[in-house]
Amino acid sequence: MSTPDLSFDTIAVHAGRDGLAELGVHALPIDLSSTNPLPDIARGGDSYEALTAGHHPPADGSNVYGRLWNPTVARFEQALAALEGADDAVAFASGMAAMTAAVLALCAATGRRHVVGVRPLYGGTDALLAGDLLGIERTFCAPDAVADAIRDDTGLVVMETPANPTLDLVDIGAVVAQAGGVPVLVDNTFATPVLQLPLAHGARMSLHSATKYIGGHGDVIAGAIACDAETAVALRRVRTATGSVLHPLAGYLLHRGLTTLPVRIRAQQHNAGRIAAWLRQHPDIARVFYPDADTSGILGTQLRGPGAMVSIALRGGYEKAERFTSRLRVFTHAVSLGGVDSLVQHPAAISHRQVAPDARPGADIVRMSIGLEHADDLIADLAQALD
Ligand SMILES: *Cc1c(COP(=O)(O)O)cnc(C)c1O
Repeated sequence: MSTPDLSFDTIAVHAGRDGLAELGVHALPIDLSSTNPLPDIARGGDSYEALTAGHHPPADGSNVYGRLWNPTVARFEQALAALEGADDAVAFASGMAAMTAAVLALCAATGRRHVVGVRPLYGGTDALLAGDLLGIERTFCAPDAVADAIRDDTGLVVMETPANPTLDLVDIGAVVAQAGGVPVLVDNTFATPVLQLPLAHGARMSLHSATKYIGGHGDVIAGAIACDAETAVALRRVRTATGSVLHPLAGYLLHRGLTTLPVRIRAQQHNAGRIAAWLRQHPDIARVFYPDADTSGILGTQLRGPGAMVSIALRGGYEKAERFTSRLRVFTHAVSLGGVDSLVQHPAAISHRQVAPDARPGADIVRMSIGLEHADDLIADLAQALD
């Protein structure tokens, strides 16, 4: 389907549905094949060669093998690419598998072994870049110090906005300008393409933990990167070689998730706005982290809305956070985010535990993912847990 004349909400419902009428079906088919018939040896071989090099399967060829290509996952990728304004998208077994593939494709495969990480980052990303698993060197820096951190052998700049867990807004275009031609990857998990299109601001890649808003129902672990066609080839080459593929059933669930993504984000954001306003007047809350009052100019230009993640700093620190998280009844005390139900967790103890102490969020900070429940019920739950 060519989509440029359609609005975002319509693309979310219809993208990736090509050819369903010819198949005589309305729901998206789930292809669970681990292997695929080969038309003959020559075309089977050509298909294998194309796929292991990271390309799409040739038109007259075969998908060959489930680690190389899956049509259900490809439909999800096509739909996500349409929403991100990208040529292509590549889905992975998790957000961290996607991040790993990006580092392998842009650094290990090119010999540029240095990565710049713009803090704050999700704890798992911070730990992956800080650790020794990928054979890289890294420099962590603040958003305004990227230019100084770039080296001759820098292969990738990794940034996140809104950033986890303090909802810092980072100017993508400013980081891209400082990167001076080095590819910039933006973790777009918190904003989703409903609120932010990183590629339109010069980023090379827009990464998702699709586990979060894109899946949206707390039942899929997945990752994806939307990007240009050439980068997609490099990422698929890593995916086929390392086997970090997404299961077709997960691809189906993510594709279904996309259809309601704009509606969910708007409704959850509406709830989050009410909750942030209520929290701001509560005496036990020292600070509310919610970018609805952003004065940097990023909200309204790069970011279309403040989203549905709200963090708070509690007066009473860790002990108060312990009481608060254990007393909530409508909110579930659990990591992850972006689903239809509200979650609460303590970043310093859990999601950001692996981050170096000087860069770790404070022990007084609690992060909430606001869901689709009625805002009155969520506020009543917060009130009883605080008092
Ligand atoms: C959860 C998360 C990740 C990691 O994704 P997984 O699907 O858990 O591997 C990366 N970035 C952000 C912002 C996240 O919230």
